[in-house]
Amino acid sequence: MEIIQNYINGEFVAPKGGNYFDNIEPAKGTVYSQIPDSQSEDVEEAIKAANEAFSSWSGLSIEARGDWMMKFSEGIAARMEEFVEAESRDNGKPIKLAEHVDIPRAISNFKFFATGIQHYASESHEMVGIGINYTLRKPLGVVGCISPWNLPLYLFSWKIAPALATGNCVVAKPSEVTPYTAYLLCKVMEDINFPKGVLNIVHGYGHTAGDAIVRHEITKAISFTGGTTTGKTIAKIAAPMFKKLSLELGGKNPNIIFDDCDFDEMLSTTIRSSFANQGQICLCGSRIFVQKGIYERFKAEFVAKIKRSKVSFPNNPKAQLGAVVSKSHMEKVLSYIDLAKEEGGTILAGGHQVKLDAPYDQGFYIAPTIIEGLKFDCRTNQEEIFGPVVTITPFETEEEVLQMANSTDYGLSATIWTNDLKRAHRMANDIEAGIVWINAWLVRDLRTPFGGTKSSGVGREGGWEAMKFFTEPKNVFVKY
Ligand code: NAD
Repeated sequence: MEIIQNYINGEFVAPKGGNYFDNIEPAKGTVYSQIPDSQSEDVEEAIKAANEAFSSWSGLSIEARGDWMMKFSEGIAARMEEFVEAESRDNGKPIKLAEHVDIPRAISNFKFFATGIQHYASESHEMVGIGINYTLRKPLGVVGCISPWNLPLYLFSWKIAPALATGNCVVAKPSEVTPYTAYLLCKVMEDINFPKGVLNIVHGYGHTAGDAIVRHEITKAISFTGGTTTGKTIAKIAAPMFKKLSLELGGKNPNIIFDDCDFDEMLSTTIRSSFANQGQICLCGSRIFVQKGIYERFKAEFVAKIKRSKVSFPNNPKAQLGAVVSKSHMEKVLSYIDLAKEEGGTILAGGHQVKLDAPYDQGFYIAPTIIEGLKFDCRTNQEEIFGPVVTITPFETEEEVLQMANSTDYGLSATIWTNDLKRAHRMANDIEAGIVWINAWLVRDLRTPFGGTKSSGVGREGGWEAMKFFTEPKNVFVKY
């Protein structure tokens, strides 16, 4: 059985306390590796190494740092198959998804910031006849990056790449539920002979290892993606210490479908936006609002297609949905299906666990579930479920659907389906979300600001936003 190790100061090391916990394969429900149960003393070592590496790393030219980022992307690509298999095994996602989405995107993240950093310029503001202001953008020092389990390497690298490219040294903690590809990333560091101490990866639980990263006085910024409750805990500790905070949190995104949309394109995209990665993408549209003129047709065709979708073990190339990430998460999602029934919902498809044959009979599978007949403000329609569960709700007018769409505490993303140009712009303007897709879903340009409003977070990732986050502006005035 593989024993995962921390990677500190360029070395694979065991946690100082010598304790490990089980890494479970969601497809089978069995233990397949051991994860370091790191504590504050391990984080201390990692922060010390990062702090010592900072002056030489931040002193490199941007071309040199860009070259290192490119080596990361090439290093992952060189181990593509290994990464794809590991991500699918660790998370339970279909191998196709890891192959076409997760790992290619991790490669792109490094590539994007390898080149992005070379085009990142600071500002100058001339005061005519008086003088000139120029703004330096300095790296912060040691920063903490903490990521969730749903898109493990994809989101881990989305933080690490801009942090490193802008000259910071990093202490990073992947989710304890899906640590494996972060461990493989350390092997890439060995492959490319990456300078020691610049990126340190510590494994373990959030309340121990994660907490130690957040509360350490040397970490100047925390870039966190995960649940809203965890985000609050982190903010309570980090805000009084005046750390920079980027918090990418939960969502309960509306998918708004008007009568005049291109029906077929909408339907095939809605299947993905509902159930890709077993619905465990923060951007999934879990509340589907359909205008009355096409509601019955939508319901009939959507339900028929979803009832035919294949839930299977991740290695099955025909699997459309794999396993959800853990037993506790499966139980949470199933409990929400029970709640929906109590709240008066009708299950149109799914609504139950799926049992596969051995050796997958102890795996965590849920049938894609469609629920109708719920009020827009009931708990099922307000709380994040983060699984293969959507609700469908009819509406008549724009005003009515806006009220329902904006009724949650969250404001991450929204999708709008219509061919009415003016309506599309009106809705995009009025909807409370950080990201809006019109006649599309999850089309990502890495230059655009990524993040949410309300309880979906604070700050933005992506492009200049990420590079601004990981640098401190210093304005200098020179008199003529
Ligand atoms: P989580 O909040 O439980 O954990 C996320 C990470 O934080 C893990 O690495 C965990 O170990 C760590 N952590 C937990 N407690 C901590 C603490 N007290 N101090 C420091 N670190 C701590 O979230 P999860 O269950 O892994 O992920 C699912 C959540 O992530 C969902 O709510 C989902 O919407 C959200 N998410 C948001 C985005 C986005 O971009 N907005 C993207 C993906 C996932």
